[in-house]
Amino acid sequence: MSREIYPKYPPDLNEEQLQYLITNVKDWSIANGLAVRPVPSWVPKEQDPVGSLAVTAPVTLFPSLFPRNCFEQGLGIQTAYNELYAAIASNETWLKQIVEELVEVDDFIAELWKVHQAVKKDGYVQGITLGLFRSDYMVHLDPAHSAAKPTIKQVEFNTIASSFGGLSTQVSKLHNYLLSVDAYPEETQSTIKTSSLPPSTSVPSLAGGLAAGHQAYGESRSGSPLCVIFLVQDPERNVFDQRHLEYTLFNEHQVRAFRVPFNKIMSHTRLDEKRTLLYTPPHAPNKTWEVSLVYFRAGYSPDDYSGKTDWDARLHIERSAAVKCPSILTHLAGSKKVQQVLATPNSPHLARFLPDKNKAAEVLKTFAPIYPLDKSEAGQEACKLAQNAESATRYVLKPQREGGGNNVYRKAIPKFLKETPESHWPAYILMEMIEPPALTNTIFRNGEVQKGGVIGELGVYGVCLWKTKSGEDGVQEMLENRQAGYLLRTKGDQSEEGGVAAGFGSVDSVCLV
Ligand code: ADP
Ligand code: MG
Ligand code: MG
Repeated sequence: MSREIYPKYPPDLNEEQLQYLITNVKDWSIANGLAVRPVPSWVPKEQDPVGSLAVTAPVTLFPSLFPRNCFEQGLGIQTAYNELYAAIASNETWLKQIVEELVEVDDFIAELWKVHQAVKKDGYVQGITLGLFRSDYMVHLDPAHSAAKPTIKQVEFNTIASSFGGLSTQVSKLHNYLLSVDAYPEETQSTIKTSSLPPSTSVPSLAGGLAAGHQAYGESRSGSPLCVIFLVQDPERNVFDQRHLEYTLFNEHQVRAFRVPFNKIMSHTRLDEKRTLLYTPPHAPNKTWEVSLVYFRAGYSPDDYSGKTDWDARLHIERSAAVKCPSILTHLAGSKKVQQVLATPNSPHLARFLPDKNKAAEVLKTFAPIYPLDKSEAGQEACKLAQNAESATRYVLKPQREGGGNNVYRKAIPKFLKETPESHWPAYILMEMIEPPALTNTIFRNGEVQKGGVIGELGVYGVCLWKTKSGEDGVQEMLENRQAGYLLRTKGDQSEEGGVAAGFGSVDSVCLV
């Protein structure tokens, strides 16, 4: 089947046109914080002794073509997805069954679950949870129906540390700016036009979500001023992505935020007798702040936990009265296993968590086939597919991990399984590869221009703030539920992984066709 659905794109540029375009990209990016810190090995320490250098973020020179119906489909179902995942995160009884299958075979999930259980024993003192979610999709052409319209299929749903919301507003602005300064040649006029370049609202929307979480916490209990903590990795190359949210939170909502590295939590914060979380900044040790909200941009990967102190830190935060973005249960709700269980054909789970039939039907349309690798009937069938050299090429194998670089693709799967004890296979899920239509673009990364086949991944952000009642399953009250802008990440089609931070892709915006 032909995988061609797009017109020829992007246009060829002569040397002068390319230089004009790149000069604009370079300067606009730095002037507007579409930037990252350099990889340490790029710059000798003596040339950047205090780490003050920044470089342009990897971007596409042109906004990638993207079917308008797919874009609208993705944005349109975000609030249904928010509702679905808030409901799952609020149902400890249901999550427990899922997690119990994993604790034997996945130490990281087991540790997260232990944290939840420890807090539950003493009782949670905060019923409000904030989700800054991102649902990721690829455009899919049904191979069985050559005339079928492209639709979107979900790659995954992120419930923790969903990144690039800060940069995505900037990249959609960049592409709009390039259009307005005639950096795109005349022949693209009918394609690249303002009405085809929707701005991404992720910065104000996500910052608004953080402000709502902060607000919902209520008054200070200790008398100290309130603040938000951005819990971060250290070092962090993608710091400006986070700073955009922090600065907007301050400028638009007058909420102070502090960046605290995960491994500094235990030394810089403490809990009072009511489990109010109090923060003493190391630069101002005589001041105390009361933490209304902890926003996790770390803690999603086992690499963030180097030992017991880091697990103590996670427990310490979870026990606290601060609103968490996300709570441990919300973090666990985002595991790939949950996605697989939801995608099981004819399963009752989707309808249970999303009772509105129309919403559930729309969400269901975006599920790609995903199978367990366990002893169930479907699981045994999947194990066979995954071990077979030929059928394995249609799949990707995923562990319960976040942040990119963890999956096993296509023909590498049989060998990987051979080397993995069979008792550990249930730690993985097997997902059909989504096969997007052929697309070309030009990526500008690390100063290099690479033109060629690309694969785009649409991320739709969601803000969701909800309340649960201690000891009861289910959302008690939905306080906020909004779609919060979008992101396109684009990678060369020779790379299976797409992570921008993991060193593969670029940030992009859509040019609707
Ligand atoms: P992570 O949580 O580590 O980001 P993902 O499920 O997003 O894990 O997988 C990482 C990357 O692998 C995606 O960004 C995408 O490029 C690729 N990928 C994952 N699942 C699929 C799929 N079903 N079809 C095609 N590519 C996929
Ligand atoms: Mg993820
Ligand atoms: Mg991903």
